[in-house]
Amino acid sequence: MDDAFVQFYTYAQDIIPGKVEDKYRWTNWNVISNGFSFVWDEATPIWVEIVPRRFTELPVKAKRIYVSTWYPRHMNIVVSWAQENPDCQFIIGGPISQIWHSLKCDLPKNITPMWGVAEQIFHKKPDPKTWKLIPPPAKVGTMYSYFLGGECYWKKCKFCDTNFGNERAISLEPLANAPPGFVWFSTPALNPAKYNLLSQLPYNGRRTYYVMIRSGGVELENLKRILPTIPDPTQLVFAVGIEFPSDQVLRFMNKGVTVKEQLEVINLITSYGHNLMLFYIVDWPNLTREDVDSAKLFFNSFSASANKLTMHRYGALVIYENSSFPIEWKQFRYEDSLFFYGYGPILNKEQCTLNDEFISLLDRFEFVAERTKARRIKKRQNGK
Ligand code: SF4
Repeated sequence: MDDAFVQFYTYAQDIIPGKVEDKYRWTNWNVISNGFSFVWDEATPIWVEIVPRRFTELPVKAKRIYVSTWYPRHMNIVVSWAQENPDCQFIIGGPISQIWHSLKCDLPKNITPMWGVAEQIFHKKPDPKTWKLIPPPAKVGTMYSYFLGGECYWKKCKFCDTNFGNERAISLEPLANAPPGFVWFSTPALNPAKYNLLSQLPYNGRRTYYVMIRSGGVELENLKRILPTIPDPTQLVFAVGIEFPSDQVLRFMNKGVTVKEQLEVINLITSYGHNLMLFYIVDWPNLTREDVDSAKLFFNSFSASANKLTMHRYGALVIYENSSFPIEWKQFRYEDSLFFYGYGPILNKEQCTLNDEFISLLDRFEFVAERTKARRIKKRQNGK
């Protein structure tokens, strides 16, 4: 065989928003890191399930094996395959391959990161209308992505280098026949100019859609316009990066929004009955007592529906090379990764205490995911 395509998936338990009446629930999902999306039928990938603490076997022998890599763990697996199969060429695509140059590692010679879109392999023009997804058999449900635009229209947050590649045309047509499950839209933050798409999604009760947005004044005005047009709020979940709810820290990271605007967006979205996921960053190196007080006030200003419909996630601050943050950093590595993955801040004792206070505010919420991860990363950063 000359070419083979490999696609990872993970059977994972995650917390997801449920119907309003059952709030959130822990559930099992086939989490699909689906790539090669517009050429799915041409690629016919081999699904490889990643099982925690179990070695992942190379599923096929071929001259060239294309692998979609989304997480550092995927890269670890490809590196071990490449080392054991020196006659085989591994071509990696996907988000992790896009930042491989900043991973600071020497890849084996038989791994080649591939830039751009997979359609190049098939000499095909991307056609969003031909998108298809045939997921592996799901034990409960499938969580997969759908492309809604690759570029952030803001692009100024200092910690972020999110770029999902080329802007491509968007079509909602294939979603009508897409598999049931949880669909997260692959877009850094949906441009308010595209919010009309949200009222045009197929709302047929078979899927829950998930979209990332910013929370500034322009977004607020556009939400006021679009939210009344969504036929069923329980089928559309919003996600917002709050990062740290203090105007000083928001200015420091150049988020371009204020705490007041964030609160208005949160209370507006949930007043319509949508579930909301909020993301925070911990381990800031320059917090003051006022910042933590601002965070307390922020959480105390949630409306009753915001308290009921919001879940919270947090992770440690990590930046990549060339960030313009004027502070001291040290190298950072995910625990399960071979690769250097960016920089984390150096925290003194006072900063550790203030960040811990912020974390304890978050931990009071019933639905906080990833807290163990954040703690683990923090532990790592502190060298424990
Ligand atoms: S954090 Fe979000 S809004 Fe900020 S630059 Fe990145 S994608 Fe854009």
